[in-house]
Amino acid sequence: MTKQKALLIIKPDAVQRGLIGVILSRFERVGLTVIGLKFTWAAPEKIKAHYPETEAWFTKVGERTLTNYAKKGLDAKTVFQTDDPVAIGKTVKQWLIDYLQESAVLLAVVSGYDVIEIVRKLSGNTIPLLAAPGTVRGDFSHDTIDLANAQNRPLRNLIHASDTVEDGEKEVKLWFADEELFDYQRCDETIMFPAR
Ligand code: ATP
Ligand code: MG
Repeated sequence: MTKQKALLIIKPDAVQRGLIGVILSRFERVGLTVIGLKFTWAAPEKIKAHYPETEAWFTKVGERTLTNYAKKGLDAKTVFQTDDPVAIGKTVKQWLIDYLQESAVLLAVVSGYDVIEIVRKLSGNTIPLLAAPGTVRGDFSHDTIDLANAQNRPLRNLIHASDTVEDGEKEVKLWFADEELFDYQRCDETIMFPAR
């Protein structure tokens, strides 16, 4: 059993709402180890490299809008002038580049067993309206796809959390140099995971 790493970004809406401490503490209190922390302005080229530039990612993001619009009987063309999911995904990525630069962001690297599943569980659904109570997004936000898209902006959902083990590794490398990571053993680990 080896630990893995995940990148968290406490996004500008969370920073400006004074939620840095409460959000970070949720990841600490389940027993994850915070091994990297950096408060910084995100450079546009870093944000561009952070979010995938793949057809699959653009499609996933665009389909999120199309599914929601279909449910509500709305037409994506009124906002995006197209109903092509890839084109919608590309527009959302442009919006993300502005959103992530609205203030400084807190970048955090957390380490733990099955850390990706844990950070995704604690973060909650991408769409705040659908995020369960008890999650970061469910407890502190209630944004919707149609409101966000009508305002020409991405969902304001407070946090980014790595999606897969491979993404976690890639994202940690993108935002942190090796010497900026400080691994250590939490004193409660022998109580949480006693070896027999
Ligand atoms: P993140 O990568 O930020 O942790 P996520 O993995 O839950 O979020 P992604 O599909 O990677 O979601 O989308 C990245 C971000 O883009 C979302 O967190 C959200 O802010 C925004 N976003 C995604 N899809 C849409 C959409 N259809 N309309 C508006 N904003 C969106
Ligand atoms: Mg993602």
